[in-house]
Amino acid sequence: MPELPEVEIAARRLDTALEGAEIESALAPGMVALKSFDPPLDAIVGERIDGVRRIGKMPVVEIGDLALLVHMMSAGRLQVFDKRASLKDRRSRVLIRLADGRELRLREFGTKQRAWAKLMPAGDVADDEMVATLGPEAWPAPPLEELARLLDQPRHLHPLLRDQRTIAGIGRSWVDEILWTARLSPFKKGSELEADEVERIGEAIGTTLQGAIDHYEDVIGEKVPDKAPMPLQVHRRAGEACPSCGRTIEAIHFKDYVMCYCPEEQTGGRVLKDRRLSRLLK
Ligand SMILES: [Zn+2]
Repeated sequence: MPELPEVEIAARRLDTALEGAEIESALAPGMVALKSFDPPLDAIVGERIDGVRRIGKMPVVEIGDLALLVHMMSAGRLQVFDKRASLKDRRSRVLIRLADGRELRLREFGTKQRAWAKLMPAGDVADDEMVATLGPEAWPAPPLEELARLLDQPRHLHPLLRDQRTIAGIGRSWVDEILWTARLSPFKKGSELEADEVERIGEAIGTTLQGAIDHYEDVIGEKVPDKAPMPLQVHRRAGEACPSCGRTIEAIHFKDYVMCYCPEEQTGGRVLKDRRLSRLLK
């Protein structure tokens, strides 16, 4: 799933590519993808794109007095193409055709239709339910006092940091990297953090997300590929040696994601029970 660094680089590249581009037509082949009715999608025809920015994990395409708020969910991508998509392409959710022949396309991989877009007056974006409920942006990391207040909840750090209402932009990949960098257990509760641990999380959020964005700035050209070259050190690296201490990185499998951690540095040497594994062994 595209998280803050992936959406940030996508928004930057789209902003450069699309500024001033005139919209020739717009359609939503994925009928459920367009979640707004008024104004109609045709309202952007003939208008120019002013820019693309990011809120949390959501890109926002600014078009005159209107804004297209996009949520890519787990498998969506917002990209610009030199040629128009075939109408048979079943991955297409929203197609914005530009007068110069290019096309801004919201696509979605996999079989599920979850990605969505909403067209609304630009002034309404901040009040949209998906935006109004967001916590402060994870990047740049909030000041320590604010972070301490946000994290002071009796919930495990892994889901807490991924909760967009607590802090916006972190998902299943970067949370592993942040907790590993901070040397904290994913199962530690936010309300049980010492001051120096909150500080470590703050620093880890900052360096991890900034490092990812810097990496993307270096390696991603004008067009963002379908799969971002994520500079991950522990996430998806179960079984490999921890880059910091050399101990084998362990994983816990959940229904739709994997949590990876270093037992040496994060859980006091303990390998936590992997529910999936223990279920398979029964
Ligand atoms: Zn380690």
